Amino acid sequence: MIGDPQTPSQTKWHFGIDWPGKRCGAKTRQGTACLKPALSGRKRCQLHGGRAGAPTGMRNGNYKHGRNTKEAITTRRAAIARIRALVALGKAAGLY
Ligand SMILES: [Zn+2]
Repeated sequence: MIGDPQTPSQTKWHFGIDWPGKRCGAKTRQGTACLKPALSGRKRCQLHGGRAGAPTGMRNGNYKHGRNTKEAITTRRAAIARIRALVALGKAAGLY
């Protein structure tokens, strides 16, 4: 900080050098890491894409019927794998 602090809040920074939380690791134009506090559950601060990404599932604005959600896709793939295993078992047993 340059000069005298203008307000009492500027005398002590909450996220000072000893703050133990997770820091943003984005590279700045100076070549150093950003070091602002990262958003909770993220690796970056709000200035460096910490909020990037669309909400998943029904919270996404493009959600229509849930047919292509991660859960539906994994369920469908598991069912297809079970069917293929049964078909292979039937072929091995000589059913068809
Ligand atoms: Zn940052």
